[in-house]
Amino acid sequence: MLRIGLVMLQGARHAHIAALVAAADVSEIDLEVIELRTPDDLQVTDLDGIVFPGGETTTMRLTGGPEGNGLLPALFEWLRANPGCPVLATCAGAILLADPQDGGEPLIDATVSRNAYGNQADSFQADLRINGLDEPKSASEFPGVFIRAPRYDAVGDDSTITATHDDEVVGIRCGNRMALAFHPELSDDRRFHRWLLETAQSVRT
Ligand code: GLN
Repeated sequence: MLRIGLVMLQGARHAHIAALVAAADVSEIDLEVIELRTPDDLQVTDLDGIVFPGGETTTMRLTGGPEGNGLLPALFEWLRANPGCPVLATCAGAILLADPQDGGEPLIDATVSRNAYGNQADSFQADLRINGLDEPKSASEFPGVFIRAPRYDAVGDDSTITATHDDEVVGIRCGNRMALAFHPELSDDRRFHRWLLETAQSVRT
């Protein structure tokens, strides 16, 4: 049984659950999704992987920050203590990993700018090129859904590029942390969720 923690602060959480369930089915993996709502939820069980959904970082920092329920600083510390734990972070999740604002080190080697494509009206869909997903369709197209997406300003040496839109980086992997500017859970292509589950499986065994 693979236990994947899902950060329940905001955003497309239920779409991530549906994507994880579908990916687990294809990969023939027994899955339990653990909903992470408070710092205590990180202590309850051994987690094999984390999904960090999008949303609004301003809201997430308020509700999950030190003045809120404290989930974010607890999660960032947990991730620093478990550096090999696979993470799939989308959009706002990727912003928070790059800029945790908890006084500690960033959790991915990249810098991003929020809302850098413009406002809600500038949300868009586009075919992406993806790299390095370990299955036959790798290095092919992926349907990218961008919603008030961030842009990568700089990608450090510890990161590899996993998705591009035209020539622009829209996804990176830093160790076992995949940080995407788009929303794979809102398309029906499950390859990033399968990557998370299969990486989690291989880390555990
Ligand atoms: N615009 C959001 C932010 O800056 C991120 C959008 C998203 O997660 N879809 O926090």
